[in-house]
Amino acid sequence: MTSKLCKIAALFLLTLCVAVSSASAQDKIRLLIIDGQNNHNWKATTPVLVKIFESAGIFTVDVATTPESGQDVSKFNVDFSKYDVVVMNYNGDRWNPELEKAFVDFIVNGGGLLSYHAGNNAFTSWHAYNEMIGLGGWGGRNKDSGPYLYLDSEGKVVIDPVQDGPSGDHGPQWAFPIDVRAPEHPIMKGLPLRFRHCKDELYQYQRGPAHNVTVLATAFAEPSQRGSNRNEPQILTVPYGKGRCVTNMLGHDAEQLSSVDTIVLLQRCAEWAATGNVTLEVPADFPGEDEPVFRDLNK
Ligand code: ZN
Repeated sequence: MTSKLCKIAALFLLTLCVAVSSASAQDKIRLLIIDGQNNHNWKATTPVLVKIFESAGIFTVDVATTPESGQDVSKFNVDFSKYDVVVMNYNGDRWNPELEKAFVDFIVNGGGLLSYHAGNNAFTSWHAYNEMIGLGGWGGRNKDSGPYLYLDSEGKVVIDPVQDGPSGDHGPQWAFPIDVRAPEHPIMKGLPLRFRHCKDELYQYQRGPAHNVTVLATAFAEPSQRGSNRNEPQILTVPYGKGRCVTNMLGHDAEQLSSVDTIVLLQRCAEWAATGNVTLEVPADFPGEDEPVFRDLNK
């Protein structure tokens, strides 16, 4: 081959490669993590979340970081039209009204929300956000925020609008088992009905509007671990307009984000919130009932 032909061939191949890679990027789910304020270590968890979502192979991941607490958040803006799903690693100041309206419009028109751990501690006074997360905790929430929702010993959903009491609580961290309550839901399909989560906070006494909630997974809050003696929701979904919202309360810090069940559930929750479907397979290293399993995300 002449050198000119070689150059033409190389250029052709390069063009082909660029076309192929941009096509696959176009096919991916566009995911945005929002962080910047949190009573949790978002600076440690966001980079791990990025790895978790990128390693699934089906997401493109961006991060939007607000100004720090006490600084002017009003200029924080996001173009939600560029995304299919928003992951909330945020528990901080209210956004500007235009951005909050844009976020509600994004969900109403079919966008996805994944509230990660303390994401459901945020925005106590933002009515629409609380409808989306279904149940929240802390942040001054009380009986006026909505009822408790838990499962009784027979697995029946109890919604208790009468009882007064705390909103948001957890005992010491322990490695609790998680019970699948909606085994046919795309997020849970194929998972063992009970699996061992890592040492983590077990959120309990969450309260909120609790409208249209589907509980996907619970954990029994053992009284010996300062628990409520209830099956407490850990993962739930709420439809909002055409949008799909998932509240996943697991994963206190980076350590918990190396637990295989945390990783897999976050990936599956995000895919479902974005598309209403889950194509990700359950990996062979998913934990059974007895022991948590960890994965080195740097490998
Ligand atoms: Zn926590």
